[in-house]
Amino acid sequence: MIQIFSFNCRLLLFLFLISFTACGQSNKKIENSDSTLLNKSDAEWKQQLSKEQYYVLRQKGTEAPFSGKLLLNKDKGIYKCAACGNELFTDEMKFDSHCGWPSFDREIAGGKIKTHEDNSLGMHRTEIICAKCGGHLGHLFDDGPTETGKRYCVNSLSLEFQRLQDVQEKDAVLINKNSNIDTITLGGGCFWCVEAVYEMLDGVKTVESGYSGGKVVNPSYKEVCMGNTGHAEVAQIIFDNQKTSLEEILKVFFTVHDPTTYNRQGADEGEQYRSVIFYRNQKQYDVAKSIIDELNKNKVYPDPVITQLNPFKAFYKAEDYHQDYYAINKNKPYCKMVIQPKLEKFEKIFKNRIKKSQK
Ligand SMILES: [Zn+2]
Repeated sequence: MIQIFSFNCRLLLFLFLISFTACGQSNKKIENSDSTLLNKSDAEWKQQLSKEQYYVLRQKGTEAPFSGKLLLNKDKGIYKCAACGNELFTDEMKFDSHCGWPSFDREIAGGKIKTHEDNSLGMHRTEIICAKCGGHLGHLFDDGPTETGKRYCVNSLSLEFQRLQDVQEKDAVLINKNSNIDTITLGGGCFWCVEAVYEMLDGVKTVESGYSGGKVVNPSYKEVCMGNTGHAEVAQIIFDNQKTSLEEILKVFFTVHDPTTYNRQGADEGEQYRSVIFYRNQKQYDVAKSIIDELNKNKVYPDPVITQLNPFKAFYKAEDYHQDYYAINKNKPYCKMVIQPKLEKFEKIFKNRIKKSQK
């Protein structure tokens, strides 16, 4: 029924035995490059922002209480800096403080917000600003009603809201527009590795690193690394079925990671490194299931394949500095020791399938 497994299992087994290198011989460092200040001139900000936004964000103004458009917003989604798009809060952090401004009990982790002492207007307060662009957001108080005890009191004008539903609908439109385009979300250990490999495969339109399969909306890398969110590090791959296929995508997947180790790839250990396929429909499930069955039947690996097959629910794109990580950081030790061997292996087996621009 479904055409699968045109590849040579023995070749694969051989290659696994001689060159399997899992992701994580060295510890990945938690980095944050969002704290780089954008160097925009005042004239540029004036041009980009509305008069009211400029007053709040650049001149530390305050909007009138109970006037902001996001005050009563209860939709699911992400609150970003209105000036630079830095992701600051999620709907889960918002609470009704009755103070007249949108209020949050915590921020998305990763140093996205900076604080300053503010002694203006005869008061002693803590100002909060966007760490990426320096824009004024509001103030932080220690009178929050939740367990954090914090109240981030933020101007609506400093925020832009992205509804979760809109993001998912945008994906669906792109796929529906062209029936040859398909999307699959794969977890095979560290996403830097998985992304770098698929960037090279002909027929792949885009690859994004992110998080899937957990219970927290828009988690940060730090949160996922701590292992409490339930998310796996994943690559979300949009591909053209006329140039490649789900079978080939999965063939690559089972070539570049070890699907037999529970919650682990090499030295990278934790639930976020589990081997998992998030399928979007019955066809994707059937294809993946058949390949896993074939791998097990032919004993391609010494141990059984334990790759999870889970229905896709949501994908949260990882922080900007994780995207194209290998391409930008080729000389870092982790890239040289862990990612490069995987790419070399991919290039060897799939040498006729590499994008022309990569050769
Ligand atoms: Zn900003």
